[in-house]
Amino acid sequence: MKDAAMSEPLLRVKNLVKHFPVKGGLLGRTVDKVHAVDGVSFELAKGETLGVVGESGCGKSTTGRCILRLIEPTSGEVWFEGKNVTELDREGLRATSRDMQIIFQDPYASLNPRMTVGAIIGEPLTIHKLTKSSAEYEDRIVELLETVGLNADHLRRYPHEFSGGQRQRIGIARALAVKPKLIVCDEPVSALDVSIQAQVINLLEDLQEKFDLTYLFIAHDLSVVEHISDRVAVMYLGRIVEIAPARELYTSPKHPYTEALLSAVPIPEPGLLRTRIRLVGDVPNPINPPTGCHFHPRCPKAFDRCKVESPVLKQAADGHWAACHLNDVAA
Ligand code: SF4
Repeated sequence: MKDAAMSEPLLRVKNLVKHFPVKGGLLGRTVDKVHAVDGVSFELAKGETLGVVGESGCGKSTTGRCILRLIEPTSGEVWFEGKNVTELDREGLRATSRDMQIIFQDPYASLNPRMTVGAIIGEPLTIHKLTKSSAEYEDRIVELLETVGLNADHLRRYPHEFSGGQRQRIGIARALAVKPKLIVCDEPVSALDVSIQAQVINLLEDLQEKFDLTYLFIAHDLSVVEHISDRVAVMYLGRIVEIAPARELYTSPKHPYTEALLSAVPIPEPGLLRTRIRLVGDVPNPINPPTGCHFHPRCPKAFDRCKVESPVLKQAADGHWAACHLNDVAA
């Protein structure tokens, strides 16, 4: 991790929106829309790691994919190194995709089972014409395998011959092949055993240091992003409800949803326990989100205003923003 506070943003996301149409009726017309991402804005400095956390369906993965335009956003802007990614044509997008890569949650589903590991890692080298001879091509693949803790013996094997952790290393090597600047890590350890999760996170931290990488690190659980993140954004029903430097967010949360997520994170010191805040009900339907604060039906601190007025993100402390009416009361 780097001290990113002084750097120019590498990535700027402005009011990003993604609505998925809901089809219905005999003619299959659009009858409604899912508010998957509903006005998300943030900046990411070079060398920084922003953790993005929330329950499934909160829009965190859709946000990551819209940034890379693996999914087309409905509206909003994504600026990367001064280029508006949302306006790039096919050729511009192909060139930018070298700088912006993704690591997926399920390393098995994301690796073609019919391709050898060498071919999987070599594919981006071929697409972007990054090597000049077959010897250079093979050397580069071996170098990438060794970078992620595998070796040349793995070159001609197939994904099914590897463990989950090793498959995720192959996915990481494939992302690194094009020497990216930004990597969207989309729940990269969620499918792995807890004992393997720390190894993969440590590897990602080492690679960040070595290659000056910037990460958008998506997870559903605050404990996963605690050590790797410089800052953390918490999402609920398509919106960022709190964003702050990691230490500040973990020690002084300003949103009841963050408090509830944090109450589930174990404290490493023996004997210390957090009081568990159990949220009632499930995440509401994003086709028809609740009025006012989207969190009010589940919020243990909700009051009358919360049902009618949607809170906006306001600065609660230096670099610490939260969308909750209680912060107005406290101010
Ligand atoms: Fe809870 Fe109201 Fe704050 Fe929303 S605005 S998080 S309902 S207290």
